[in-house]
Amino acid sequence: MIRLPDKSLSDATLAALANYQQEVNGAGAYAEQVAKAKDIWGARRRNRPFDEVKNVLTEMCSGARRCGYCEDSMADEVEHIWPKDLYPERTFVWENYLYACGPCNGPKNNRFAIFPDANPTQKTELSHPNAGPVQPPLGRPVLIDPRVEDPLQFLWLDVTGTFAFTPVEDDESTISWKRADYTIDVLNLNSRDALIEARRNAYGSYRSRLFEYVTRMENNEDEAQLQAIEQEIKREGHPTVWREMKRQQVFISELKDLFDRAPQTLNW
Ligand SMILES: [Zn+2]
Repeated sequence: MIRLPDKSLSDATLAALANYQQEVNGAGAYAEQVAKAKDIWGARRRNRPFDEVKNVLTEMCSGARRCGYCEDSMADEVEHIWPKDLYPERTFVWENYLYACGPCNGPKNNRFAIFPDANPTQKTELSHPNAGPVQPPLGRPVLIDPRVEDPLQFLWLDVTGTFAFTPVEDDESTISWKRADYTIDVLNLNSRDALIEARRNAYGSYRSRLFEYVTRMENNEDEAQLQAIEQEIKREGHPTVWREMKRQQVFISELKDLFDRAPQTLNW
């Protein structure tokens, strides 16, 4: 999970989203706003602005439409990072969208936690909206948001053995630890075998391409061929693995040797 690139929508689409949002906000009390958000969202496929929303979200994905959370499965749902059933005022806010896969989006739909402003270190799960619309208290999200923050400030991927995530922070009482732990749990980032396997495979693929690049470079091979390898590395679908290889190379002698021989690759 890495921070997604910032991209913007056209003015026309932003204005269309703002209109929908205004309709929601003007619908009345909280319960009516939730119902209105659901209604308009349900009809969105007939609305042209959402073609652009999907296109731009696709450009922001790593690889070919990879999920913004797990980087593995194909993204096929426009996900509200802050759920629309709890936060109708964010239903048509561009920064609240990412493209996610079903296995990430499904379980998360039922869960969202905040650190309430009134008790900012206490992780508080908000009740499922099926219980009826209850306006959540103000607070900060527990789930890491790859649209606005760098997940790897919180998460550490073990690329030497388990290919599982752990919190960067050791102290379980910290906000940082709680956010990492919650994100791993809600998105099942460590409990899906296929995900672990995909990261392991990606590591092997990145490493062999890097090796190939370094040896060809040292043999003064054709620049076009070197660029082709660079593009392959940049297109590989698990950028978190690549980011971690760069971050952790100082501890992994085999990687350190390759990056030392071609330090420009650290900027990819
Ligand atoms: Zn996913």
